[in-house]
Amino acid sequence: MSKTGRKVAASGGRKDCRIERIDVHVVDARWRNFVFAHVHTDDGISGVGEGSCEFQPQMVAAGIEMLAHRVVVGQSAFQIEKLWQEMFRNEFARGSPYLNSAIGAIEQALWDIVGKALGRPVHDLLGGRIHERLPAYANAWYGAGSKVADIARAAKAVARKGYRGLKLDPFTNAGRDPDSRLVAKAVEIIGAVRDAVGPHVEILIDCHGRFSPGSAVAAARALEPFDLYWFEEPCDPENVGALQKIGRSIKTRLATGERCYTKYHLQALLATNDVDVLQPDIIHVGGILESKKIAAIADASYIPVSFHNPFGPVATAAAVQLDACTTNIIMQESFCEYCVPWRFDLLEHAPRPVGGHYDFSDRPGLGVGEFVVDVAKAHPYNKDAFLPMWSEAWARKF
Ligand SMILES: [Mg+2]
Repeated sequence: MSKTGRKVAASGGRKDCRIERIDVHVVDARWRNFVFAHVHTDDGISGVGEGSCEFQPQMVAAGIEMLAHRVVVGQSAFQIEKLWQEMFRNEFARGSPYLNSAIGAIEQALWDIVGKALGRPVHDLLGGRIHERLPAYANAWYGAGSKVADIARAAKAVARKGYRGLKLDPFTNAGRDPDSRLVAKAVEIIGAVRDAVGPHVEILIDCHGRFSPGSAVAAARALEPFDLYWFEEPCDPENVGALQKIGRSIKTRLATGERCYTKYHLQALLATNDVDVLQPDIIHVGGILESKKIAAIADASYIPVSFHNPFGPVATAAAVQLDACTTNIIMQESFCEYCVPWRFDLLEHAPRPVGGHYDFSDRPGLGVGEFVVDVAKAHPYNKDAFLPMWSEAWARKF
């Protein structure tokens, strides 16, 4: 027994960290809900993981509770690979973003527990630190739908903070066949942003899958004079041939991958050789170790990775751990400074960029300390947290 009277595992007094229960928290964060899995073990160590999934939080919450009962409770947190296989492969209807996000939330929490039990940050357990710090790019800074001059002013403020780049969707409510005035407005916005930030801050465009292949090519070519870093999700992600057509027809790097949910689907995407930057979502692919594998698969095609990260502070902490130990990482997406201000209060040590960069700490596990339950409970589930991407309402909420 330990000093606290808790059970200490058999061999050499090492902690076994058997999972006793998982508490699920769905937290209203304005235009989406965050989902957290707070995992408690019989050694008194708790870990936290995040399963936020755009606009299906209750499905993830139900998935976490189902997997806790079916697979995880009673097992050792050290069996991450085994438990992952049982959560993924035993679910016959598998590979959906909400089930994967439930797996991802639990998996992150297991890494947090394991790191705390060993007194090491997760990146030390995944090969060790490669970089001392990583540049970030800012998102959600621009007030979508704002006037051009206001967006340019906001861009200048982001650049002054030291971010390597800034990302925006300048296409308002454009769809597969956009009104030419919407594309002209996007050209005006990006021209003003380039003037505001100068030549050395990277501009990244997110299309959120709006266009048909032909419309995407036309929009990308219209924006080429502004020296963009990447053109992201120009069309919806399911049809690899459509993405391929776009990738071969534009000069700007093609970025995609946030809606590629498994390494099995990734092969078809990479086989085209038209994806220039892969953006795995650590939550939606099922967690940290799966993301590390996906980054390695991308690296086999010399493709750099930038982890998709629009959610809460635990997902950011997981991304930062992976950033520290991933060879082909380029920069980290960050919503931190353009989010609900209390996101930093959800954790004892919430990650935040400093001078537009993420530093890597030596704190154990995910480096976040304890999850602050009272803050989560102060912002309960909001069923109206949703962004309808094909209407002007998304811009007003974002
Ligand atoms: Mg995106």
